[in-house]
Amino acid sequence: MNDWDVAVVGGGLVGAAIAWGLAGIGQRVVVLDEGDVAYRASRGNFALVWVQSKGLGLPPYAMWTKGSSDGWAGFATELRAETGLDVAFERPGGFQLALSERELQARAATLRRLHNQPDMVAYPYEILDHAELARMLPEIGPEVVGGSYCPLDGHCNSLRLLRALHAGMFQRGATYAPDHKVARIEQRDGGFRIDAGGREIRSGKVVLAAGIANAYLAPMVGLAAPVRPQRGQIIVTERVRPFLRYPVSTVRQTDEGSVLIGDSVEEEAADDTTGTEVAAVMADRAVRMFPLLRRINVVRSWAAFRVMTQDGFPIYDQSLTCPGAFLATCHSGVTLAASHAKILAPQIAAGRLEAEMAAFSARRFDVSATL
Ligand SMILES: Cc1cc2nc3c(=O)[nH]c(=O)nc-3n(C[C@H](O)[C@H](O)[C@H](O)COP(=O)(O)OP(=O)(O)OC[C@H]3O[C@@H](n4cnc5c(N)ncnc54)[C@H](O)[C@@H]3O)c2cc1C
Repeated sequence: MNDWDVAVVGGGLVGAAIAWGLAGIGQRVVVLDEGDVAYRASRGNFALVWVQSKGLGLPPYAMWTKGSSDGWAGFATELRAETGLDVAFERPGGFQLALSERELQARAATLRRLHNQPDMVAYPYEILDHAELARMLPEIGPEVVGGSYCPLDGHCNSLRLLRALHAGMFQRGATYAPDHKVARIEQRDGGFRIDAGGREIRSGKVVLAAGIANAYLAPMVGLAAPVRPQRGQIIVTERVRPFLRYPVSTVRQTDEGSVLIGDSVEEEAADDTTGTEVAAVMADRAVRMFPLLRRINVVRSWAAFRVMTQDGFPIYDQSLTCPGAFLATCHSGVTLAASHAKILAPQIAAGRLEAEMAAFSARRFDVSATL
């Protein structure tokens, strides 16, 4: 006998979105979460719901990302109706700014390559010069030579998103079990037997959504999750009057008024501490983009680990040797939350990922391994 239809391992943004989606379609769900001692990308991200530049090398990822971005407004409305929590989603369009002609040309070339791919989903974007940018972003500095704009980009309050997903899954009848670090998973007796926090949990299906920890959990159920931690630092300022209506890829003003400056990309970092060397570079670029930031106080900074695959794309997989075991991991868990809840969760409930998800299987790495 299984106590639960589905056990979701990990209560970050990926696990919580899937659990909320599963509970909304009548599944009996338990979320097994290691707790506050774990590294959690979901508590340290930049909160963009971002479309532009996603999918170079894997056009289905561009389609998946756009689909989630399109579904975000309805998803946020549903969360608010259920939990009373406003996750402050806005989709005014977003910018990536260039501080030199070379950067701008490189940006334009990347987006051309992205959109010229066969089977690439069509969506609008523009490359703008300084004067065109200044009409939408009046506070930019003279060093900004131009940038890219995509009307599909947006942002939200991602800490509130995590809170809303937890409140929502609880209201939908899911059980959240903190301090339940999963040590072992076995398939037997028509389900999964999971050793979590010293208890045995019995479920019909299991979803691995444990971020970086998926790397060691996946082989327990015949899956592979080649993910690595990649550090990102973010600087947070005091709250100031609204001056930035649009999210910029490395500078955004939150719904509460503070400005987030981000986010570094650091490989092989030993831990999730911050450092002034990297912060100084980020702050310098941000001030050159928006000179008024020079007068604003920094109140804190943090670092967190992205959950990164070698090609940067997500992994969604189902086990061939342990049917009923699924894996979900990505480095854009804010952006993809709507599709995780609304599209991925029903497929998991049905016991099978649809054919279009095959592009995201970790088996794509086997091909390059044999070359
Ligand atoms: C600096 C930075 C900026 C980012 N910016 C953006 C952005 O702008 N937009 C965007 O879409 N995404 C962004 N991301 C990525 C986004 O935050 C992640 O994709 C997302 O949070 C991943 O969520 P997750 O649930 O997979 O992992 P995590 O948040 O890491 O959660 C994993 C969970 O699994 C639990 N766990 C671990 N091991 C076990 C175990 N053995 N048993 C049980 N539970 C376990 C942990 O307790 C944790 O709760 C950013 C990330 C970083 C670091």
